[in-house]
Amino acid sequence: MNRPLDLGPLAACVRVSERPAERVAHARDLWPRGTLKLAYERDPGVPPLAVAFPESEEQVASCLRFAAERGMPVVPWGAGSGVCGAAAGRDDALALDLKCLRGVGKVEERGSYGVVDVGAGVLGQHLEDALEVQGWATRHSPSSIWCSTVGGWAVGRSAGQFSSRYGKFEDMALGLRVVGPKGAYGTGEWAEGEDLHEWVLGSEGALGVVTSVRARVERVATARWLRGYRFDSVETAWGAMRTLLQADLRPCAVRLYDSVDTKLAGKGTVGKAKGAAKAGSDWLASLREFVDATPALRRHTLSLPLALPRLVNGILQGLSTVCVLIVGFEGAADEVAASSTAGHRIVMDGGGVDLGAEPGEHWYDHRHEVSYKLSPVYTHGGFADTMEVAALWSRLPALYAGVRAALGRHGLVMAHFSHVYREGCSIYFTFAARGSVDVYDAAWADALAAAAAAGGTVAHHHGVGQLKQAAAARELAGIAPMFHALRSRIDPDGILNPGRIFPDVPPGPEPAAPDLVVDPISRIATLPAQEPGPQRDARLAAEGWRLRHPTPGALSADLSRVAPDDTRVIGASAVIDGRRLVLLPVPRSSAGPDPRRVLPPESYETLTVPIAPVGAAS
Ligand SMILES: Cc1cc2nc3c(=O)[nH]c(=O)nc-3n(C[C@H](O)[C@H](O)[C@H](O)COP(=O)(O)OP(=O)(O)OC[C@H]3O[C@@H](n4cnc5c(N)ncnc54)[C@H](O)[C@@H]3O)c2cc1C
Repeated sequence: MNRPLDLGPLAACVRVSERPAERVAHARDLWPRGTLKLAYERDPGVPPLAVAFPESEEQVASCLRFAAERGMPVVPWGAGSGVCGAAAGRDDALALDLKCLRGVGKVEERGSYGVVDVGAGVLGQHLEDALEVQGWATRHSPSSIWCSTVGGWAVGRSAGQFSSRYGKFEDMALGLRVVGPKGAYGTGEWAEGEDLHEWVLGSEGALGVVTSVRARVERVATARWLRGYRFDSVETAWGAMRTLLQADLRPCAVRLYDSVDTKLAGKGTVGKAKGAAKAGSDWLASLREFVDATPALRRHTLSLPLALPRLVNGILQGLSTVCVLIVGFEGAADEVAASSTAGHRIVMDGGGVDLGAEPGEHWYDHRHEVSYKLSPVYTHGGFADTMEVAALWSRLPALYAGVRAALGRHGLVMAHFSHVYREGCSIYFTFAARGSVDVYDAAWADALAAAAAAGGTVAHHHGVGQLKQAAAARELAGIAPMFHALRSRIDPDGILNPGRIFPDVPPGPEPAAPDLVVDPISRIATLPAQEPGPQRDARLAAEGWRLRHPTPGALSADLSRVAPDDTRVIGASAVIDGRRLVLLPVPRSSAGPDPRRVLPPESYETLTVPIAPVGAAS
């Protein structure tokens, strides 16, 4: 229900619009549930009351002041490419379209890397283009690079296709300028006093509007090596991927398509790979081509599978037996030559069949396209969506089986494994089902429950939004109260994305302390955080392990960042205000802020950290 609003005082200092077209354009982001409601219920979402286009930090501050004085909710809007409803409009709200926060600075060299200051509204591809002429790149390459902003990447902990080498955007963002209703503040390299960096990363606009970002950048690679391999099962391929990462070869791309994805998504990804399908089994592709070429049949290509997902999933899983793995290395020529030789040997020893360079090069040339090919599902009466979860290597089989089964009860499902780390991996499920909000909600409820039951994070890089609020709050149950306390300091009137990202739910029962264990598959150990170093190291050595990042004192004494593709802390438990909180051990997550490294040092009870075999180089 919209109320009358006099925009005059705001229009005096900021460009602002009440035009219906602008308002409708900011009513929904790319959350497929919104698209579903638009497609089948003619529901365009909730337009904000007005849209402002601030061009500077001062103008953002004016917008927040205007909204606070009127008790208006404010929805920061990057490019609206979020897929979880985080930027969707709401009644009586002021949307802040931030794309006029522009500007890409000159790169400052810092030895092996560089840094650049960027306006938060700069679109990803524009940033990469502006850096390329200076000889640099972030190499943050989400499929949405053409339609997402640097600020959106930061507050959503976005991941790009080369994350195995360069990290997620949270690993690249070294400083943030943020404007809240009580004033502006800096984080990371721009922090003065209290540093809220890890809280703002992943905060999805609830802790202020990010106006500029200091980002780490890399020299443009002079060499690149790409290759495809065939595996008979995802399990065999996981072993090769894990060995590759744990050998510290720093591949830029490691992507495994499960057998259904290899078979069905072939056109856009790897299906043209020589040898990707077993000889003689290309009949499915031929059948699809025949159906696609016949208008009367084309209309029904998906309607039957969408109506009978369990049957069709069963048939597809039975028929599809081959998985394709893409591996890539890039950087300086000598490094690429050495690491690709070693990497190729690992993958071949791990059971891969060499498919040559073509599958890798095909993927690289078309790497953003597949994300934009899901819309036709709506013309078949269905919807399509994606779910990205992640887990330690030791939990990956349960996560894959659990979520695939959960989604498979509602729709057609396939998956690929990308964003690969030493400790674990993310899984990207693509699913399509009948176009009904009830089916949509049931599929997500089941899948989120399955991810949590398997010990995975419910979000690896798409963030929380409205879709995963309850699941993320459960995953981070311990920190939600801390987040809310921080939020009420920064935004006492609660105008910034109210109710998002965590609903204000009471914390559940206090969790038990995590077991002290060594997980040799994921190469991590959960250890007492305050134990003296020599004692801890001797205990680990007796089991054949050492800390990957050696430290002489207690673990809690040094939790600083290591490198964009590496980390010192995988999980933690701490006691804050007499209450234990447990932060899930997971290689990376975007289920909200990630304070695993930044709790008060004395509060840590256990820390889950990377380990290496005694005698190994790293
Ligand atoms: C086709 C497609 C492919 C995608 N591929 C990827 C992928 O490969 N990797 C990936 O990580 N994501 C991907 N996404 C998801 C999406 O692009 C990311 O979530 C991205 O980070 C969102 O950026 P945005 O600028 O569009 O933010 P929006 O969608 O506009 O906003 C997202 C959230 O951030 C807040 N926000 C935005 N800007 C600011 C700011 N400056 N200050 C404070 N709060 C702000 C909003 O209020 C909202 O809560 C994809 C999406 C699509 C549609």
